[in-house]
This record gives sequence, structure tokens and C-alpha cells, in this order.
Amino acid sequence: MTKDGLPPLRDVIAAYGLSAQKSLGQNFLTDLNLTSRIARTAGPLEKSIIYEVGPGPGALTRGLLMSGAAKVVAVEKDARCIDALKDVQAAYPGRLDVVEADALMVDEMSLIGDTKGFDIRIASNLPYNVGTALLLKWLTLDTWTPWYKSMTLMLQKEVGERIIAQPRTKSYGRLSVISQHRCRAGIAFDVPARAFVPPPKVTSCIVRLEPQAHETDSPPLPVLEKVTAAAFNMRRKMLRSSLKALGQNPLPLLQAANISETARAEELSIADFCRLAQQYEAVLG
Ligand code: SAM
Repeated sequence: MTKDGLPPLRDVIAAYGLSAQKSLGQNFLTDLNLTSRIARTAGPLEKSIIYEVGPGPGALTRGLLMSGAAKVVAVEKDARCIDALKDVQAAYPGRLDVVEADALMVDEMSLIGDTKGFDIRIASNLPYNVGTALLLKWLTLDTWTPWYKSMTLMLQKEVGERIIAQPRTKSYGRLSVISQHRCRAGIAFDVPARAFVPPPKVTSCIVRLEPQAHETDSPPLPVLEKVTAAAFNMRRKMLRSSLKALGQNPLPLLQAANISETARAEELSIADFCRLAQQYEAVLG
């Protein structure tokens, strides 16, 4: 038995025949000390409902509940795991809802229902094959600030580095701009491949993102995304050339945004991209 009185995760995986499926990005954690540490990073938990994608056999779910999460609402695509989570539900009556669904397709707020005044936080060991798509789903919500107070996500380290990258670095790109425009983001700690069953090929990391309110003159997100995409699609070219993809003469746009026409995408700060997007939006009318 373990410190929550439930069977060790390796036994749960064996008992329910949860052979890892690559197509579902299944790499399971088995160490409750590690998942309790991730859970604490996701806190404060006591006044929070945690939305978790991909509970699998329940390693992070158990870490969250053990560490005091008021409630966990978990969405899992693999029916085999739903059965395996029944014992966790029984051990924490009324504190774990499990929904069998594809997290890319669900409307989170209708699953969570009445929040009873609690904060909602996202905590997840994301399946690698859809991790970035889910992150983008939560970063690009129309209503900002969004329904969640924080996201604490296990991602490939390379993705984590792109999220927090600064200008003039190799990792800086569209994901850095959108993440840092919408959230304060940081890497809490790395998780080695050997922590998983089966071990993935790469190191992972825990990223924590907290939504931040926008400036009142902030450009609409689709406009910012369009400008950022044009700039980074030809990241080695000068902006006077790459921004032609916007269908406007880039020179007046760059001048109005006070950006050098010979600059390249990776030299621009988030504030530079926002000014550029504001100018582009003004031209579009
Ligand atoms: N949370 C568990 C852990 O830490 O050991 C499992 C994490 S594993 C990396 C990813 C989990 O996400 C798997 O259980 C997988 O079945 C599930 N999953 C994959 N794609 C999904 C999707 N589109 N919607 C919901 N769950 C998904």
C-alpha cells in the first residue's frame, strides 16, 4: 500500500492491463512523491477545482487529491483508465469526477458545472501528441481573462523552453509570443525520462502559466497571431520582406510601430509584436 492507502500505481497498471498506447501519448508516472510535488506546484489547492486532462491510472490525480485539492474533474479518452480510477473515486467520495471524452473537443466549463465560488486550475501530465494543441486551446480562448487561474502542465522540455523563450534565442517563436502575451510563464522543474513507464525519448518539464489581464489597447489575438505567423514563417528574413505575406506594404507598418525595417522576427519583443499588430489592425480598419 502507499501513503493514500490505495495500491501502488505499478499494481494498478498491471491489474487493469494498461499497456501504454503510443497513439494516446501514454507515458505513466508511478511515483506519488513526484506527483505530490507537481500537485503542490499547481496550488493553492484547497479552494480550487482542478481540471485534469488524461488522468490515466491516476498518478497525478492521486497526488492532487492527497495534497488537498477540493475537487478534481478529469477527462480521459481511454476507457480502460476510467475503470482503473473507480478505486480513487471511492477513496475520495465526491471529490473526483471522471469523464470519458476527447479533451480537444469538450467545453470545460459545462463539464465542471457549478464552481461554488472555487477557483479553477488546470493541472495535467499532457499526452505529448496533443499537448501543444491543448495548450493553444486554453491560451487562445476568446474570453480573457479565462475561466482558469493557472495551468500547471507536464510538457516536453523543448516545448517548455519555447514557451518561456526570450527574443534573440533559438527557441523564441510564435508559441513564446502567444504564451507570454497571455500569461506569466515559468518552468518549475524538469522531470527525467526514467520517471515514466514507459520512458519517453526526451526530458520533460513542469510549466506553470498564470493568465494576465491585457492592456486596454491590446490588439485582438487573431491579428497578433497573423502578424506573428507572417514574421516567423520566414524567421531569417528581414521584416520588410517577411511581412509582405500580410498583403500590405510592410514599410509604413514598421515605421508606425517604431520598428526597424531590417529587424528580423526573433529580435522583436512581445510589446513590439503588439504595436505591429495594432498598426496592422488600424490599416485593415
Ligand atoms: N496522468 C497520467 C500520469 O501522469 O501518469 C497519464 C499521463 S499520459 C502522459 C497522458 C494521458 O492522456 C493518457 O492517459 C491518455 O490516455 C490520455 N489522453 C490522450 N489523448 C487524450 C485526449 N485527446 N483527451 C483526453 N485524454 C487523452
